[in-house]
Amino acid sequence: MILDFLFKPSFERGVHPPQFKETGRTPIRRMPFASRYTLPLSQSVGRAAKPIVTVGQEVLRGQPIAETAGYVSVPLHSPVTGIVEDIGLHPTLSGEWQESIVIRAFEGASQEVLYGDPVDVDALTPEQIINAVQATGMVGLGGAAFPTHAKLAAPKEWPIEHLLVNGCECEPFLTADHRMMVEWPQHLITGTKFAMKACGAKRALIGVEDNKPDAIAAIEKVLPDDGSITVHAVKTKYPQGAAEMLVKALLGREVPAGARSYQIGVVMQNVGTLAELGRLIPRGQGFIERVVTIAGPGVSKPGNYLVPIGTPLRFVLEQAGAPRDAVEVILGGPMMGAAIASLDVPVTKAISGILVFDRSAMQKERGKTHPCIKCGECVNVCPKGLNPSTLGMLAAKREYDLMAERYHLDGCFECGCCSYVCPSNIPLVQQFRVAKEIVRERQAA
Ligand code: SF4
Ligand code: SF4
Repeated sequence: MILDFLFKPSFERGVHPPQFKETGRTPIRRMPFASRYTLPLSQSVGRAAKPIVTVGQEVLRGQPIAETAGYVSVPLHSPVTGIVEDIGLHPTLSGEWQESIVIRAFEGASQEVLYGDPVDVDALTPEQIINAVQATGMVGLGGAAFPTHAKLAAPKEWPIEHLLVNGCECEPFLTADHRMMVEWPQHLITGTKFAMKACGAKRALIGVEDNKPDAIAAIEKVLPDDGSITVHAVKTKYPQGAAEMLVKALLGREVPAGARSYQIGVVMQNVGTLAELGRLIPRGQGFIERVVTIAGPGVSKPGNYLVPIGTPLRFVLEQAGAPRDAVEVILGGPMMGAAIASLDVPVTKAISGILVFDRSAMQKERGKTHPCIKCGECVNVCPKGLNPSTLGMLAAKREYDLMAERYHLDGCFECGCCSYVCPSNIPLVQQFRVAKEIVRERQAA
């Protein structure tokens, strides 16, 4: 058993933060419907969608309300049956005001999804699957929000051998992927088959951290007999779910610096994304709600909730038993997530977790920043083999170009391991984010 643990595939360095994953033990619950939904037209890293409804128009739950604006763009569907109340600028999670469609839900409507035509999925060609994926409006649910169809359509000159399915969910607190693997394994396999056909992969490997044995068991029960899809336990370690780390753990290969994974014949997708595709494509439906982990010491009803896209964050927190004030809210996990300033914003497609903390406890926890003591802890844990200590000192001197040119700033994928272990509480990853932004701006100028 000890040997089994030692030889689980993984990557070098990384950290072992406490897990706090109790929400992984209870089933997904549906969030009650709110009275109003706000859908920003930009919910992916691609171009914003274009509205196809008008103010005053009645819409059905699941009905398309905004169409794509080019190839790297996804449509939007109404999360409720109701009436379009406004199309205009509204605040969003990024702090920006963005063009959004506001829908008032009809009180007493059944909110059953009546929209969508069943699809004969076996008859679909790879191109038709990619079009069907785009029609769902799906984006990477692990937080990247990259349009899924565009990721599946790797350039033809790079033949794809392997589809890697990321079920690591290595951030503390987050358990949405865990519950989807336990409760929807058949949808996950169906979605994995679609993705394999779309990208041309002959094999799919599902990587799951070994702290989720029930998810591995659930998937094993529904694997196809031909061995084309396999599930693998990988070591529980942060950031095991990062693309390069999972490629290393499952295939023993490195993604060369500056290259994309398709250039070594690999496409990666998140388990939640594929489980949703397996659920939606056969029914011809769009993506209108997602599983979100709501957790942290600031909520009395933590769990995984099925939340319609566009639900006001304030409403979501009330339902999960958060107090009205004195809370600090982090979107995503504590390692890579970001604190938000306002609760008057909607849940969007990319939100996998909402963590709620007591504000005074967070301030105490953060502590004071001290000078670097050259302990080397940050160097020991950086999964990319960078020198965060030197990068941090250069950031303090605003030597951003030097950081980029000599110390491989662009290799940092902002995992936060260095900040996590730093005994001097130096906000290294925050400094690197700022430095990267400044370097990008300078290069663009
Ligand atoms: S945030 Fe960047 S520098 Fe720090 S450990 Fe992660 S990859 Fe390395
Ligand atoms: S962990 Fe912090 S104190 Fe230690 S070398 Fe790195 S930056 Fe300096």
